[in-house]
Formats: sequence, structure tokens, C-alpha cells
Amino acid sequence: MRTTSDISARVRPRQRHVAEGQRRSIEGLLAPLDERVVRSDHLLKHNAYRAGNEQVLPRYLYLGERGGGDVIRLGIFATIHGDEPEGALALGRLVSVLEQNPDLARGYALFIYPVCNPGGFEDGTRHSRSGLDLNREFWKGSSEPEIRFLESEICLHAFHGIITLHSDDTSDGLYGFVNGAVLSKHLLEPALQEAERILPRNWEKIIDGFPANNGIIGHCYEGVLRSVPGLVRPPFELTLETPQKAPLHLQVDALVAALQTILVEYRYLIAVAQNI
Ligand SMILES: [Zn+2]
Repeated sequence: MRTTSDISARVRPRQRHVAEGQRRSIEGLLAPLDERVVRSDHLLKHNAYRAGNEQVLPRYLYLGERGGGDVIRLGIFATIHGDEPEGALALGRLVSVLEQNPDLARGYALFIYPVCNPGGFEDGTRHSRSGLDLNREFWKGSSEPEIRFLESEICLHAFHGIITLHSDDTSDGLYGFVNGAVLSKHLLEPALQEAERILPRNWEKIIDGFPANNGIIGHCYEGVLRSVPGLVRPPFELTLETPQKAPLHLQVDALVAALQTILVEYRYLIAVAQNI
């Protein structure tokens, strides 16, 4: 989530036209997930949604083994900035880790949206093909098809937690944003601790223009992907950011480590809360 003032975010940049033959392949990016769909009893690919310009916004559901209580629904979103495919790659890797360690996903339904900005990914741009930073458009009555689809998913599934994955080319270390439920920061801290076995944390006092405390930021831009505003009991909301200039495989490993930790910690926190 690089610093972009609200004013500049609203100005549509000159659209960059990328010839069809030079576009990056969503199929290629999602091949690890799609191969899993064929072989896994847990992973489904929903009917993909066709956004404007015939783009497809892919959606997967990973259903863990049944746990003791209610199913915990998490929404995990990546590549809402089209030039940040690291999160999509991490989600492919996460699913293969879950397949090998079924207990990690026990009790969970993971709704996975690996490419929230398909046009931007294909063109290699932060913005969508319509020229917008989609991560400033939520809950403002946007008519962008990607936003309308994602907002309806967020309403429909009433997630217990929302996790978004980004990579930041201006940061030398890992950091994150917390919103929503108070326990969000109790999930992000252990997630960063696990991830920093792989990449350093960003300890700066100001990150992305916001005051930061040990790599944790408690503010966010207006219009970011998050839960419906004003809920009495909001879900936990976390954004994980990797340093984009770090080696790609390390960013993927760091995100997977963080996500695994969140699954373990959230299940634990729920169990504790139920015993009070
Ligand atoms: Zn981003």
C-alpha cells in the first residue's frame, strides 16, 4: 500500500494500453491453485465472475475438515493492486501447505480471492484497467464491477475475518495494518513474528505516512477493502505488506508463515473466548 494522497488517487492516470500478446497470464498465475482444484477434496473454484471488459475475477473456497464448533469464515484477498502478484502466489502455496497439514484449516472455510484486479494484473499496473486505485473505492457506491462484486461477497459471507495481502516497493521490511475487531492486533503481532523469521520487519516510526508501532499501523486509507462500515461486531481485519524488492520466494514464504499463524491464533482466541 504505497503512499498515494487521496487527491492523486482520485485522478485517473493516463491509461496504459498493453497489447494483448504482452499481457501477463492470469491462467499462469493461478495454475498452482487450479491444479489443486482437480486433485483436492477441499478446494473448489466457484463460477468466476465476469467483470467489465470480459475480465474474470477468480474465487476459490477451501473447506477445512470439520472442527468442533461453527465454521469460521475468512475472506483472503490479494492483488487488488495489479502489480502486486506476490499475494496470489502465496495463496497458491498456502493451499498446498493446508493440503499437507489438514489440521491447520480444521473448522475453517477460506474464501480466497487471489486476483482482485485482473485487468491491472494482466497489464502490470497498480490501477485497474479503468484507471482507478481499486483499494480506495470500497463502500462509496462505486460502480466499478470488481468493487461491486467484492462488496457483495463481503456482505454475503459475513466473514469472521478479512485478510488482504499487499507488497510495498517503498518498504524494506514487513508490516501490517489492523482494523475492525480489537483482537486484530493480537493476530497481526504473532503473524509478523513468524514472518520475520524469513524477512525483516519494518521498525520505522512512520510507515506509508502513518504512525507505526513495531510494524503495526492502526489507521487506514479511506476506501480500502474492508468489512461493511459501522458493524456492531466487526470482523478482524488485517493487511499484510511484504517488502516488494525482497526475493519473491521469501515474500511468498513470509506471507504463508503469517497466514498459517493467523489460522492457529484465531482458532485459539475463539476457543478462549467461548470458555469465558
Ligand atoms: Zn498494494
